[in-house]
Amino acid sequence: MNTTTIKAFGTEAADKPLHALTIKRRDVTAKDIEIEILYCGVCHSDLHTARNDWRGTIYPAVPGHEIVGKVTKVGKDVSKLKVGDYAAVGCLVDSCRECDSCKEDLEQYCLNGFTGTYNGKDKHLGTQTFGGYSEKVVVDEHFVLKVSSNLNLAATAPLLCAGITTWSPLRHWKVGKDSKVAVIGLGGLGHMAIKLAKGLGAHVTLFSRTKSKEKDALELGADAVIISTDNNEMNSVKGKFDLIIDTVPYVHDVNPYITTLSLSGTLVLVGYLGGLEPILNTVPMILGRKSVAGSVIGGIAETQEMLDFCGKHNIVSEIELIKMQDINEAYERMLKSDVRYRFVIDMASIKK
Ligand code: NAP
Ligand code: ZN
Repeated sequence: MNTTTIKAFGTEAADKPLHALTIKRRDVTAKDIEIEILYCGVCHSDLHTARNDWRGTIYPAVPGHEIVGKVTKVGKDVSKLKVGDYAAVGCLVDSCRECDSCKEDLEQYCLNGFTGTYNGKDKHLGTQTFGGYSEKVVVDEHFVLKVSSNLNLAATAPLLCAGITTWSPLRHWKVGKDSKVAVIGLGGLGHMAIKLAKGLGAHVTLFSRTKSKEKDALELGADAVIISTDNNEMNSVKGKFDLIIDTVPYVHDVNPYITTLSLSGTLVLVGYLGGLEPILNTVPMILGRKSVAGSVIGGIAETQEMLDFCGKHNIVSEIELIKMQDINEAYERMLKSDVRYRFVIDMASIKK
């Protein structure tokens, strides 16, 4: 298979900073679209992967799965987009497309395992997949999304992960005008959860650890902010929420939030992967028919639905544009929750 060598940013080890390197991209096959990457969002999952937090990183690792760019080449059988169109790629670049999940447009739950945009197994080249911290990407048209022309392109990039990861549970649990939704953590995912839940008409509350983001949360559309470290405030929302989206990336006590769920309410974890500590107390769950669930990104059709909804309602991410060379500093700031509310890399900087 013919390939082209391109510039990228990645790392060879968990304790090494990201730096310039080269990777190979396949030439387009019949169904492929080649995209020149203009912007790439910086997700906390990029950091988890670069630093091997989840223990499965294959090095060199090139993160980035919030990709927006321009189509530069299309294969002969491509019908979705043409050269010159804007296009987007999120967290998925392939799946088996035959299993029950794939047939139901739930590629993210592919029973044979989806191919992640980075750190997945590239079925064409046999290597790991490399993400959007790179000059271009080649993806089967099924996994390429269309972006709305009225939205700011750089601020659209985070919709491809932070947006869909919060949209999918909002839709699955049928959030609408009468819903009371809460979001834990005001970061990349959290701020999109607020905007999207508001867009769907819900009453939205933010749980944050300190008061420092309260003003921002209200400006983003939250109806209320509860400081999760303040027992009085936590007690004031007992039994209130139909759905809580928990975006916290690290192990934390989920129990205090369960008591804030209404009868039959659900807390859906989208952040932390692993065993919960302290252990989950089933008493409030059993006595209130409450659920603790999980959710991963979203399927391609659902991602397009979310992008179209954002186009219609003028919803984008709050971003700080950075240069590719600033990525290590951005990771350090993300660890301190010092990002309002998503870093997006201006990929023109990688050419320098
Ligand atoms: P982020 O921008 O760093 O935001 C996380 C927020 O969680 C912070 O802003 C902070 O909010 C809160 N937080 C951070 N550390 C905390 C701690 N130790 N205890 C309590 N709260 C804490 O991260 P992100 O990009 O939104 O990603 C969030 C998580 O979702 C990551 O673990 C990421 O890997 C994961 N993720 C999952 C999926 C999926 O498909 N399920 C997709 C994308 C990302 P406050 O300052 O307001 O407290
Ligand atoms: Zn992500």
